[in-house]
Amino acid sequence: MVDLLLFWHRRDLRLGDNVGLAAARDRTPQVVGVFCLDPGILDNGDVAPARVAYMIGCLERLRDSYAQAGGQLLILQGDPRQQIPALAKALAVDAVHWNRDVEPYSRQRDTAVVEALKEAGIEFRTTFWDQLLHEPGDIQTGAGEPYTVYTPFWRNWVKRSKAAPLPAPEGLQPLSAEQVDAAKKAGCIDLPSAADLGFTWENGFPVEPGEQGALERLEEFCDGSRAIDDYDEQRNFPFVNGTSRLSAALKFGAVGIRTVWAATEATYQQSRSDETRSGVQTWQQELAWREFYQHVMYFFPELAKGPYRAQLKDFPWVNDEEQFAAWCEGRTGYPIVDAAMRQLNEMGWMHNRCRMIVASFLTKDLIVNWQWGEKYFMQHLVDGDLSSNNGGWQWSASSGMDPKPLRIFNPASQAQKFDAEAEYIRQWVPELRSLDTGALVMGKIAERDRGDYPAPIVDHKIQQALFKDKYKAQRA
Ligand SMILES: Cc1cc2nc3c(=O)[nH]c(=O)nc-3n(C[C@H](O)[C@H](O)[C@H](O)COP(=O)(O)OP(=O)(O)OC[C@H]3O[C@@H](n4cnc5c(N)ncnc54)[C@H](O)[C@@H]3O)c2cc1C
Repeated sequence: MVDLLLFWHRRDLRLGDNVGLAAARDRTPQVVGVFCLDPGILDNGDVAPARVAYMIGCLERLRDSYAQAGGQLLILQGDPRQQIPALAKALAVDAVHWNRDVEPYSRQRDTAVVEALKEAGIEFRTTFWDQLLHEPGDIQTGAGEPYTVYTPFWRNWVKRSKAAPLPAPEGLQPLSAEQVDAAKKAGCIDLPSAADLGFTWENGFPVEPGEQGALERLEEFCDGSRAIDDYDEQRNFPFVNGTSRLSAALKFGAVGIRTVWAATEATYQQSRSDETRSGVQTWQQELAWREFYQHVMYFFPELAKGPYRAQLKDFPWVNDEEQFAAWCEGRTGYPIVDAAMRQLNEMGWMHNRCRMIVASFLTKDLIVNWQWGEKYFMQHLVDGDLSSNNGGWQWSASSGMDPKPLRIFNPASQAQKFDAEAEYIRQWVPELRSLDTGALVMGKIAERDRGDYPAPIVDHKIQQALFKDKYKAQRA
C-alpha cells in the first residue's frame, strides 16, 4: 500500500505524457515532485548559461503545473546521491519513482541512489523509459546486437508501433504543514534564478520554456504553419525558419516524445501529396537520429570519452589555440563559418546545416581535436545534449559510426548551396552586409572591403590535403 510517493524529475520537466509520473499517479494521489540542482552537473565547466536559464524556466512552469493539479514540486540543491534518499527518509515516503537515462554520469548516479534507498528500506521503481519511443535493447540487429549504423536502425525503428501519449496526472494532494516542514529541514529550498546559480542569459530562447511553450510550438510546426510539410526542402537553409526549434524542449523533456510522435502521425494522415508526406517522414528521421545517438551512448558509454574509430585514437591534431579562439569568436575569415559561430554565441542555438559546416571546418580545416568543439558547443548550446552533440561531432570528425567517414565540407560550396543569397551571412556578420553576394558566398573578400573583418586564417585547399595525408598515415 502506497500513500506518499516521491517523483524525481530529471530530463522530463512536465506533467503530461510522463511515463514514470503516470505510473506514480496510478498508485496514489499523494505524489510529490522533486528536482535536484546537482553541482556535479552545474559546476562541471560544460554548462551553457542559455541551457540553465531554459531549465529554470521549465522548472518555474512545472512548479505552477503541480500547484494547478493540487500537488507540489520540491527543489533540492546538492549531490542527489545524498539529497534524494535523505528527503525520501525525512518525508517517510513509501516509494520513489524516476525515469531512466542513457548517459554514463546519470546511470552511475542512479545506481548510488538505488543503493541508498535500499539501505533505507524505501521502495524504488526506476525501470521507466520516458525520453525514448523505443528503449535501448528493443531495436537490435538480427544477431541481437545494438546497431552501429543509422540506416538499418531507422528501418527497424520506424516499422515498430509506438506508444500513445499519456494523460497528465490530476487530483494530486499537497503535503501537510508538517511534511513541508520536514522537507525544509531535509534541505528543500525555493527555486533560484539562473543568475542566482551564476549563469546570466538575456538573449531569449528558440522555444518558450515549459510544457505549454513546447506544445504550442509543436502544434504550430505540425498543424498551424505546417512547416513540417516543407521540412524536406527547407530544413537545409539556415536563413529559413524551416525547422521546429524544439531541441531544447526535447532535451529537457518539456514535451513528451509520444506526444511529438502522435502529432507527426496525425499530420502524415492528413497529408495530401507525396511531397508533404516526405516532409513529415524526414522530420521523423531526425527524431530517430536522436534515438539512435541515445541508444549507442547507452551501449557504448566510452563514446563520451573519445573516438569510436581506432584510427582516430591518437590522431596528430594541430590544435592551434589562436585558430581555435578565432573559430569560437566567429573570426576565421570564412563568412559562413563566422555567421554560424556568431549565431551560436548570440542565440545559444545554431542551425543543423551550420553545425555540420563549423564542425567540419574545425576538424578538417583547422585540424583541431573535435573534443574541443564538442566542449565549446556544450558550453553554449541551449539544447546541448551529450548523446546528440557527441554523435554530431564524431560524425563530422570522421571518428564515429558513419559508414562513409571521410567527409570534408568546402565552406564556399556549402554557402553556395544553402545560403546562395548570403542572407544568413548578412544577418550574423553585419560588418559585411553591404558587400557583393558572390564575394560573401565564396568567401573572397577584397582587402580594401574587409575593414576589421579578418582575412581567411587558413587555406581550405591546403588544409584539406594536409588532413587527408594525416588521415591516410593513421590508417597505414
Ligand atoms: C556537431 C553537431 C552537434 C550537435 N549537437 C546537438 C546537441 O547538443 N543537442 C541536440 O539536440 N542536437 C544536436 N545536434 C543535432 C541538430 O543539429 C539539432 O538537434 C537541431 O539543429 C535542433 O534544431 P531543431 O529542433 O529545429 O531540429 P529539427 O530539424 O526540427 O529536428 C527535430 C528534432 O530532432 C532531433 N534531431 C534533429 N537532427 C538531429 C541530429 N542530427 N542528431 C540528433 N538529433 C537530431 C532534435 O531533437 C530536434 O529537435 C548536433 C548536430 C551536429 C552536427
